[in-house]
Amino acid sequence: MARKETTKDGLINGYMHALDYGKTERRMVELAEAQALQAGFVKYSADKPLNPGAKYYFINRGKNFAAFVIGKENRSAQLLGAHIDSPRIDVKQQPLYEKDKVAYFDTQYYGGIKKYQWTTIPLAMYGVVYRADGTYYNIAIGDNPNDPIFCITDLLPHLGRSDMSKKTAEEYIKGENLDIIVGTTAIECSDEEKEKIKEPVKAFILDYIKAKWGMEEEDFCSAEIEIVPAGQARYCGLDRSLIAGYGQDDRVCAYTSLRAVLDLQDIPEHTAGVVLVDKEEIGSCCATGAKSRWFEDVLRAILNFDRCNELQFATCLYNTRMLSSDVTAAFDPLYADAYDKKSSAKLGKGIMFSKYNGGRGKSGGADANPEFIAYVRGIMKENNCNYQFDSMGKVDVGGGGTIASMICSLNINVLDAGVPILNMHSPMELAHVDDIYSAYKAYSAFIRA
Ligand code: MN
Ligand code: MN
Repeated sequence: MARKETTKDGLINGYMHALDYGKTERRMVELAEAQALQAGFVKYSADKPLNPGAKYYFINRGKNFAAFVIGKENRSAQLLGAHIDSPRIDVKQQPLYEKDKVAYFDTQYYGGIKKYQWTTIPLAMYGVVYRADGTYYNIAIGDNPNDPIFCITDLLPHLGRSDMSKKTAEEYIKGENLDIIVGTTAIECSDEEKEKIKEPVKAFILDYIKAKWGMEEEDFCSAEIEIVPAGQARYCGLDRSLIAGYGQDDRVCAYTSLRAVLDLQDIPEHTAGVVLVDKEEIGSCCATGAKSRWFEDVLRAILNFDRCNELQFATCLYNTRMLSSDVTAAFDPLYADAYDKKSSAKLGKGIMFSKYNGGRGKSGGADANPEFIAYVRGIMKENNCNYQFDSMGKVDVGGGGTIASMICSLNINVLDAGVPILNMHSPMELAHVDDIYSAYKAYSAFIRA
């Protein structure tokens, strides 16, 4: 079947732009919608016909996105699923405080991070503030070259010696100390007022956000402000073989999966789709996570089932296949002890499939059926796609999950398939350009099968 050929360079350029723009789940949804519209997709509504070749997208609460091309046969689907949230630092709901004439935003981290990695690096602030009247203000500060950035401080080595020798990496930076500096300037006031204003730097910041963001302090209660690394994605290495950037878990799979579906030109055999979910990093919870019934409702709509056809719908789910597009840990030669080398994904060797995930005896994870794995292998071979199999890390060293475990509870065939990366969950993750392109090719082949 013919399809629009996205070249390797074109894909990598588009991907780097997606990393730069889509630093939060909301911005990834914005980007996905813009690209879907450009590719001729329209927003789904119940009155739209589900003819073969029709292209629809769905958005849930600004944080979930799905796009489908209706297949010749619309009674099962070939799906790609990735997540668009990444570990980060969230601003609390009563965040602003002043300590010894420095004003901070108090924070709570989101997802699994090594806290010490987030100090002394340039940080950007993205989010939205909703006022009680329902109006809102979008925040995006730190990635425009003229913007200020934000920072979490760390003790200088001169005074940090005893701290470094006595504390473990876990204890070294306290979660409560991951607060960002927002200012050091005191509000201008008369000598008389100075007596009354106990926190003049906090007062300055309150004045500032009132003027610029149109908000009162209590509006922080209904705000969602995310602190992420500032700066653009870059090539890494003299050979430019790696992409360095924040949030590649899981935007590398989200972007390549999205492009695979948007680039479909002809009508696929089965309905082809991509679903991008939120909250994977904290357990796939909430209305926008993979556990939400939204995904099931979207499938019901796109496969044209109403509530009366439960048994038929169950059959359709049974016949539906999905790649859970998520990253895995690439083998890191400098930390070889953590890996079972022969069963680890290697940089540059292509998309990685994992039969299972979870930790401590596969607990809490997913475990794909060999019949389905063989089916996927067949597609890879037929389409000359490079691929490898991995099981992340040595037994009992740790483990992790993906959305596969939620999706397979709908009785859908699911296999984990993604890009191996280094520095996972750090402010700067690394992925190999060949693996990124390999993922795109593999996802494209899968949805066309
Ligand atoms: Mn992930
Ligand atoms: Mn993750």
